[in-house]
Amino acid sequence: MAIDLHMHSTASDGTDPPQSFGELAVAAGLSAIALTDHDTIAGLGAAQASCKAAGVEFVPGIELSTERGRPRGALHMLGYFIDPTSPRLGEVIDVLTEARSTRNPQIIEALNEVGVDITLEEVLDEAGGATVGRPHIAAVLVRKAYAKSIQDAFKRYIGVGGAAYRRKQGIHPAVAIDALHAAGGLAVLAHPVQLRCEDDEDLERTIGSLAKLGLDGLEAWHSDHTPAQVKKYCRIAERYDLLLTGGSDYHGRRKSIQMGKPIVDDQVLAALREAAQRRVQ
Ligand code: AMP
Ligand code: ZN
Ligand code: FE
Ligand code: FE
Repeated sequence: MAIDLHMHSTASDGTDPPQSFGELAVAAGLSAIALTDHDTIAGLGAAQASCKAAGVEFVPGIELSTERGRPRGALHMLGYFIDPTSPRLGEVIDVLTEARSTRNPQIIEALNEVGVDITLEEVLDEAGGATVGRPHIAAVLVRKAYAKSIQDAFKRYIGVGGAAYRRKQGIHPAVAIDALHAAGGLAVLAHPVQLRCEDDEDLERTIGSLAKLGLDGLEAWHSDHTPAQVKKYCRIAERYDLLLTGGSDYHGRRKSIQMGKPIVDDQVLAALREAAQRRVQ
């Protein structure tokens, strides 16, 4: 059966509450899911309970914002089978939450400077207690008619190159990998295409250096990847002895991504589970 190991709830920048994921997974025909909210574990308990009630296997996950070390491209580290009570992981989450609280007012200030009438309170309202991300800011910009769509808001204002783009301080990938391991989990490089490497050589070098730091896997299947890219990532994973994972990066109605697309086979999860068990032994 099909699985989906990358999705976001209202605990970060998705629009579906974590307690709805069991039902959503059944409706999408999935046998297992992982919730991977940005820099938070707040949704895991509710999502896990809903999956249990719906008969869907649940993998506790997270997506950590790490430093790319370059102005362009994102390096996001997925964690799977993590213990949400891990103090070490908790410390890393605190650092990342602080980084968001520093950056978000900077974005608002920059928006005000270019004549956009928006307040931090409006953004916090939009987030409703969640880990605040740029999609929340984008949603306010759309609501107040400063942008036609979330995409448009990123392009014109808050994406890389936009008038109000402000970098968020991330943690070093090594810190993310170590914290995920300390939490009994596995570390997987999310959507390698978003690294925006210059060429295949650069991509291999980057993944090779992450493998040296203890990276466990690569997210080969993702809604942003073309079939040719999936093939390439599978080849690289084999070369560096990395596990393969996949997921949609579903965000609810804030993005046009469908849950369960692309299709990921449940054998992927079997290999991941075995590796996680080997790690904690
Ligand atoms: P943040 O972690 O607050 O910097 O926000 C990252 C989130 O913004 C991720 O969910 C991204 O998928 C989303 N995002 C980044 N760039 C874009 C874009 N150009 N259009 C739509 N969403 C984007
Ligand atoms: Zn997101
Ligand atoms: Fe991501
Ligand atoms: Fe994501």
